[in-house]
Amino acid sequence: MRIPYLLRAGSLCALAAAGAASCLAQQGEDAAGTAGCFACGGFVFFFIAAVVALNVAILIWVARDAKARGMDNAVLWMLVVFFLGIIGLVIYLLARPQGNTIPCPNCGNKKLQASVKCPHCGAGS
Ligand SMILES: [Zn+2]
Repeated sequence: MRIPYLLRAGSLCALAAAGAASCLAQQGEDAAGTAGCFACGGFVFFFIAAVVALNVAILIWVARDAKARGMDNAVLWMLVVFFLGIIGLVIYLLARPQGNTIPCPNCGNKKLQASVKCPHCGAGS
């Protein structure tokens, strides 16, 4: 059974909420416990921020890679990866035109080695 990406993101949020709740519950107790709790909450926040940053990096990479391979539906693939997460990324890696990408001699952007025309500037290789 595949777990939907948003569901996993939701469970992360629940985890953060649980951490915040335990922070509230610990108010009035000794300072060391409160400090430890804040450290834990900071870690959860950092973890979520890292996950979000990784997702954004993957989305940008997919958009650039799809464009370099001359795919018109780069935005569609970004949505697929956004909603399906790592599963969407695997689907993209299998569905994209295979082959090495090389820098275009005309504009410097990446293009498929096998493609005749550059998808960025239209120059023939
Ligand atoms: Zn070019």
